[in-house]
Amino acid sequence: MIPHVDTLILGGGLTGLSTAYHLQQLGYTDYLVVEREQEPGGLCRSFQKEGFTFDYSGHLLHLHTPYGKKFVKTLLKNNLRRIKRESWVYLQNRWIPFPIQANLYALPCAISHLCAEELLQKGPSTKPHSLKAWCISSFGAGLYKHFFRPYNTKLWGISPARLTCDWCGAFIPRPTRQEVLRSLTKKPAKAWGYNTYFLYPKTGGAGALIQALTKQIRYLRLHASVTQIDLNSKTARINGTLFRFNKLVNTLPLPQFLQLLKNAPELRKLALALKAAPVLVYQVAVKGKGKKFSWIYFPDKKDPFFRVGQQSSFSPENAPKGCRSFYIELPGNLRPTKTLEKQIWNSLLQKGIITEYDEKLFSFWQKLPTAYALYDFKRASVVQAVLSKLEKQACYLAGRYGKWEYSFMETSILQGREIAKKLIG
Ligand SMILES: Cc1cc2nc3c(=O)[nH]c(=O)nc-3n(C[C@H](O)[C@H](O)[C@H](O)COP(=O)(O)OP(=O)(O)OC[C@H]3O[C@@H](n4cnc5c(N)ncnc54)[C@H](O)[C@@H]3O)c2cc1C
Repeated sequence: MIPHVDTLILGGGLTGLSTAYHLQQLGYTDYLVVEREQEPGGLCRSFQKEGFTFDYSGHLLHLHTPYGKKFVKTLLKNNLRRIKRESWVYLQNRWIPFPIQANLYALPCAISHLCAEELLQKGPSTKPHSLKAWCISSFGAGLYKHFFRPYNTKLWGISPARLTCDWCGAFIPRPTRQEVLRSLTKKPAKAWGYNTYFLYPKTGGAGALIQALTKQIRYLRLHASVTQIDLNSKTARINGTLFRFNKLVNTLPLPQFLQLLKNAPELRKLALALKAAPVLVYQVAVKGKGKKFSWIYFPDKKDPFFRVGQQSSFSPENAPKGCRSFYIELPGNLRPTKTLEKQIWNSLLQKGIITEYDEKLFSFWQKLPTAYALYDFKRASVVQAVLSKLEKQACYLAGRYGKWEYSFMETSILQGREIAKKLIG
C-alpha cells in the first residue's frame, strides 16, 4: 500500500520546520517534513570547525513583529545576544558609516558635493520601476554612480536598469532628500535601516534556533530527497518510494520545484523564466586581534567581494579567544581558485581588515546557487501565475525560495504560521 500523509512539507529549512511547528500548535499532526540533507535547517544551519562556529554566510535575527520575537525567545530563551550594528561602506579608501545616503559628510568633498548637486536636479515625476530609476529618484545620480550601481551590479550580476525596485522598500534605508542633504555637513542623529540592532545566539551560531525548533518537530524525515511530484494523482516520489498526500507545502527553490512536476509542461516552462543570483562565500579563520565590525559593503570593481562580515563579532563563542573569523561574499559566477583567494587576501590586507600580524588558520569555500531570487522584469508575473495555478491544486508556496522572493528568517517563521492556519482553515 502506498504510504499516505495529509500534508506533505517539502524542505526542512526554517520555513518547513515553522510550518510543521505551527500545525502541531494547532493540534494537527497528520504531516511529514521531508529534507534531503542529513540535518535540518537549510541555509540557517551552523557548524563547528576547529573551535569556530560558522553560518552559511552570516545569519542574523532581524525581528520586527511581536510574534517573531516571541517565537524566537520561546525557543532560544536566554541563549540570545542583542547586538548594535557596526557596518560600513568602503569607498575611495575610506570607511563610510552605513548607509552611505545618510552619511555624505564622510565622503571626499568632491564626491559628496557632486552627489548633493545631482540630488537637487529635478528627477522624473513618474513612479520609478527599475532599481536604477528608484535609486536615482531617491538619492540622485551621483550616489547611484558611486555606490548603488557598482554595488548592485556585483551582488545581482546584472545592471540595476534590468532589475525592478519591488524589493527595495524594506531593505534599503530611504532618508528624505532633506536628510540626505543635511548629512553633507552633519552626522545623522538617528541610525537608519531595518537592522540597527539584531539578535544572535550566544552559542551555537544561527543554527541554535534550528536545533531548538527541531526538538519540537515530531514528523521529520532526513536523507529524504523529493525527485518527482504529480499534482493530479497527489503523489510524490521520495528516495524512490511513492507517497500520497492531500495538501503540499513547497519551500524548495521554486524553479527546481516546478521542474519536479509531472505532466505539467506549462508550469515547467514558466520555471525557465525564474533566475537566481548565486553567491560564492569564502570563510576564513585567523589568529590575531583587529578592528571589530559587523559587516562592510564594497562597491569598488577592484575588490572581488561585495560584502565582508565578521562572524566572530556576533558572539565571543564563535571563535577561540584571540581569534577572528570572516565570511566574504562574492558574485556567484566567480570560481574558487588560488588566484581568487590571493586577490581576496591582498584586498583585505590593503584595507587593514586583516593585518600582517594575523596568522591564517584555515579557510574554505561555500557555494549558494540560488542565494537571491533575481528581481528582473519577468519575476513578479511568473510567480503570480504559478502561485494561483498551484493553490487551485492544494499546493502552497512558502519561504524566500518557495515564493521566490527577497525575504528573511522572520518571514519564514511568519509564513509557516500563516500556511498552517490556511491548511487547517
Ligand atoms: C547570503 C545570505 C545571507 C542571509 N542572511 C540572512 C540574515 O542575516 N538574516 C536573515 O534573517 N536571513 C538571512 N538570509 C535569508 C535566509 O537564509 C532565508 O530566509 C531562510 O534560510 C529561508 O529558509 P527556507 O527554509 O525557506 O529555505 P532553505 O533554508 O533553503 O531550506 C530549504 C530546504 O529544502 C531542502 N531541499 C532542497 N531540495 C530538496 C529536495 N529535492 N528534497 C528534499 N529537500 C530538499 C534543502 O536541503 C533545505 O534544507 C540570508 C540568505 C542568504 C542567501
